[in-house]
Amino acid sequence: MNYELERRVALEAVVKACRLCSAVQAAHLAGGVVDKEDKSPVTVADFGAQAVVSDHLAAVFPGIPLVGEEDSSLLRQPDNARLKEAVLKHVRMITPQLKEKETFAAIDRGNAEGGPIGRFWTLDPIDGTKGFLRGDQYAVALALVEDGQVRLGVLGCPSLPLVSLQGRGGSLFIAVRGQGSTIRGIEQAEERQIRVADIADPSDALFCESFESSHSSHDDMGEIIKLLGVKRPPLRMDSQVKYGILARGDGNVYLRLPTKKGYEEKIWDHAAGCILVEEAGGKVTDLSGKPLDFSQGKTLVKNKGVIATNGKLHEVVMQAVKSVIKSQ
Ligand code: AMP
Ligand code: MG
Repeated sequence: MNYELERRVALEAVVKACRLCSAVQAAHLAGGVVDKEDKSPVTVADFGAQAVVSDHLAAVFPGIPLVGEEDSSLLRQPDNARLKEAVLKHVRMITPQLKEKETFAAIDRGNAEGGPIGRFWTLDPIDGTKGFLRGDQYAVALALVEDGQVRLGVLGCPSLPLVSLQGRGGSLFIAVRGQGSTIRGIEQAEERQIRVADIADPSDALFCESFESSHSSHDDMGEIIKLLGVKRPPLRMDSQVKYGILARGDGNVYLRLPTKKGYEEKIWDHAAGCILVEEAGGKVTDLSGKPLDFSQGKTLVKNKGVIATNGKLHEVVMQAVKSVIKSQ
């Protein structure tokens, strides 16, 4: 199986969502924000992006369920009528045939549970919503999981320049199991293969972590890089763009160090990024060295934290992580 159709359709869906997100940002609509029950923010673009991706996938793959981060319940509340109108307007700009009913239905198609058998898509319509609101990095993350294994990942990064960490224009990463990882511009179809950087000495490495210290412990990261003699301060960045940075060799290690007991990482926060790094020659495990297990439903309940590296650095970084976390 070469996943040609799945790849093309997933790419088209993510490009549409990236256009929607950029349009929302250009309209300064990020202000239309409400808080979810867990107090995390959700915007016009989160709902809109899930609607257009879900609709695009369903048109070609009506039988493949979608595990998406959002549902329409907040949008249906009378208090949020203005947010709903803004979502509908932005969805119509990308997919004109979607009216209110179809938009809600498309969002709520994302209510699948995942699990170990068969195929499903998993989507984070905006990963790094806090970054989106700050005008920093965010990503549209879509992956196809088959019998518990990630087979395909597409990561749209509208605020990540294509060639370096400076410059303009968004980047789009694509990975298919066994076929490597590529990068292209969101509005440019030409792709090129990417590889992780060939670094074996941790002191030369660039480490990446969440911008938000509530998502990954900055204190533990500080201890780990001290132990390894890392010269550069960690790059703090929102979303799975960190996996993209690793896959194309700009960064070398991405650590997600638990901040509170019992937090279960969500599959949509890692599926696309994980295959991207693996297919670029890197390695992704949890803190104990186990591969991430995408077969357990919506969360990575069998895993704790994440260590993603270029491969060569994996063992030495994992040992440093273990010794810092154990000494607490
Ligand atoms: P990042 O931008 O890398 O910090 O990741 C953003 C993601 O962190 C969001 O999509 C949330 O699902 C997730 N998140 C929320 N709370 C936590 C937490 N306590 N620990 C780890 N991840 C979290
Ligand atoms: Mg997310």
